[in-house]
Amino acid sequence: MSDAMAQRHLVSLQMDSEQAFSFEGHGSSNHYSSSRSHDTTEQKEEGALHTDHQPLDRLLESIGLGVWYCDLPFGKLTWNNTCKKHFGLSPDAEVTIDLFYELLHPDDRAATRQAMERSIAENSIYDIDYRTTGIDSQVHWIRAIGRCFYDDHNRPEHFDGIMVDVTEHKRVEQMLREQVERLEEFEMRKDEFITMASHELKTPITSIKGYTQMLQNRFKKAGDGQALYFLSIINGQLNKLANLVNDMLDISRMQAGKLHFRDALFDLDAIVLETVEHLQATTQTHELSIGSSANVQVFGDKDRIGQVIVNLLTNAVKYSPHANRVIVRISTDQEHVTVSVQDFGIGIDEEHRQKVFERFYQVRDNTDKGAPGLGIGLYISNQIIERHKGWMQVESKRGEGSTFSFTLPLIREAPGRPQGSPLP
Ligand code: ADP
Repeated sequence: MSDAMAQRHLVSLQMDSEQAFSFEGHGSSNHYSSSRSHDTTEQKEEGALHTDHQPLDRLLESIGLGVWYCDLPFGKLTWNNTCKKHFGLSPDAEVTIDLFYELLHPDDRAATRQAMERSIAENSIYDIDYRTTGIDSQVHWIRAIGRCFYDDHNRPEHFDGIMVDVTEHKRVEQMLREQVERLEEFEMRKDEFITMASHELKTPITSIKGYTQMLQNRFKKAGDGQALYFLSIINGQLNKLANLVNDMLDISRMQAGKLHFRDALFDLDAIVLETVEHLQATTQTHELSIGSSANVQVFGDKDRIGQVIVNLLTNAVKYSPHANRVIVRISTDQEHVTVSVQDFGIGIDEEHRQKVFERFYQVRDNTDKGAPGLGIGLYISNQIIERHKGWMQVESKRGEGSTFSFTLPLIREAPGRPQGSPLP
């Protein structure tokens, strides 16, 4: 009988015409919408007596939808069997508002009471999750949704709604939360490891470099050309190792928000020229040339911008093993200065082009095994350029080469500031 009564009141739920209840639990979605709930006075009067609710009862029970109804002020509550099952009650149990609160998990009582009172006072939807103990004596999470209905004088008349068991949904949610926490912890430990390992590697590298230099001086004096040649190879490899370690340290500093910048005005052309000359001295395979210059002062961290240029140049050489030149250009427009590095190497397919700026991203078939890399150089460069309020770009055609560039904003001439210097 209680189910039939509950169904009668279910059809009396006069939801706003667009309002629909939606549940996501047990991997299914059940909708009860107002379009089905319109009711007439005659229907109300005829009620359960003239309607066979059994198919609807069975349907509601099979999908685990509880239906509840209560006159206001609260006294006896009308629940269908599913509601009672959620609360561990037998089908013939009498339910009162006090019993309802009593059966709730103690930690959820106050919030539930508050949500109900607010819904009645503000004519808003009551929508809450609470815990209770079901017929299996296990704790169940229930989601209840309902609202208050008022008489012609706007006095609260009754409070109706539905409830579903969302325990499984909560369990999956909790599991996902735990997985995310575990991943975050793993990520944190990995970052700590990278920081620690890079610091530990720095000391021996510096020491080997020092001894290599000492030996170079000795062999120079002794005129041992072959030994000097071997030492220059050791030195080159050490530089690569030192760059990798520095990149790893930068990454961990970035993660911790501790990458420091020493901003000042500097001559962009000069830093490009200096970097090109420095790298040319150690590059035998390619001619590095400057195609155009701009003669602008830039406000930012000179060393960090230099680091970006080094990264673009070393990549240009590394990823063009069958070419022999790399061209650097500097250009300006009214508001920006752009430095671009063009190579004639293997190029990058469109699907990878933007991804190369992501952390640890490497185009697999691009990676030259002879030139070590971690897929972090472009990520770091991009972060540095973004920190200077600029952006990076790549244009490329597979097999024909790539042009990587970075752009920094310029400001209009300001008193005391040289023309064309970018925003601090
Ligand atoms: P790394 O070179 O150490 O792998 P980067 O972050 O500098 O890391 O570059 C990411 C990836 O982008 C590289 O692994 C490579 O696949 C691709 N890439 C970078 N520069 C070039 C280039 N000039 N030509 C072709 N591919 C490039």
